[in-house]
Amino acid sequence: MKVLDAARLLGCPVLLLDATGLISFPHRHCPHCLVRRCGKKTVYYHHVLEAKLLGPAGIVISLDTEFIENADVVEAEGRSAEDVKQDCELKAASRMLPRIKEAYPQLRFVVAADNLYCCGRAFALVKELGWGLVVTFKEGRTPALWQEYQALLKERPKEVLRRQWGDGREEEFRWVRQMDYEDSEGREFTLNGLECRERRGKEEQYFAWVSTLPVGIKTVEEIARKGGRYRWKIENEGFNRQKNSGLNLEHVYSSDPEKWKAYYLLLQIAFMLTQLLERGSLLKRLAEETGKKVWELFGSLKNLARRLLESVRYEEWEEGWFGEAEGGRVRISFDTS
Ligand SMILES: [Zn+2]
Repeated sequence: MKVLDAARLLGCPVLLLDATGLISFPHRHCPHCLVRRCGKKTVYYHHVLEAKLLGPAGIVISLDTEFIENADVVEAEGRSAEDVKQDCELKAASRMLPRIKEAYPQLRFVVAADNLYCCGRAFALVKELGWGLVVTFKEGRTPALWQEYQALLKERPKEVLRRQWGDGREEEFRWVRQMDYEDSEGREFTLNGLECRERRGKEEQYFAWVSTLPVGIKTVEEIARKGGRYRWKIENEGFNRQKNSGLNLEHVYSSDPEKWKAYYLLLQIAFMLTQLLERGSLLKRLAEETGKKVWELFGSLKNLARRLLESVRYEEWEEGWFGEAEGGRVRISFDTS
């Protein structure tokens, strides 16, 4: 219904990739644990990779989930845990992104991700899907590309955009187009680099990204903001809130991995509903109609969640509510300012 379109980047929906730790034990508790040695201790853990669609007003909507776990790991005799080929975030992304492509063949996503994805494997994956990419750029992960970027930057002193803000903030955007990059497997890519330096008094913050999007004076700010900085700001908000706001992401409700996976998925749905209510227009409208402020309606967001739970317990949900006729009448919009 186009309500999320305000967050598009150069016309493309932005897909955030974000992984987090889900659960960890000092002992193996299922055949799929990832294994890591910390000093003398061995940790058995599970991670999850989430693909989230970026919406306006800071909302993030889960599009897909991939659990990062070993398919059928055997800690073979004589081999340490580290030697066993383990699953990892990039492998999980290779399984998940083609699935999203299949579900949304018409959408040309821009994948926004952290520095882990600044590598040939991720570049190739996104290229194959016909999508765009904005990833955090750091020296350590791709030293040759970083050096090329720095050298080319010096040759282009005029490719710069400066913004002065009323609060004393100054932003300086710079960019380099069409850098050639060959990864260790001989795959060749043409990539663009961009950066934003933000100064406020003596304080300075620096951010840089690699992107496949057309970087230039008209686009650099939007790419840095919607693909880079915005992602950086809200990247962990979703998981932080799911861990720390009573949603109990990391709580082990069951020792059965299949059950806490189910809990994890239900939690994503609950989090979407919470965001729709918290940041959407429904409660605002209700408050206006009743002459109250939004927070006066329920007292707090926690109360709101409790009321929702009560309604599930005591009210029968009529079948018609799920139909298009009834559902179509409910429209939620978001503050896009
Ligand atoms: Zn396990």
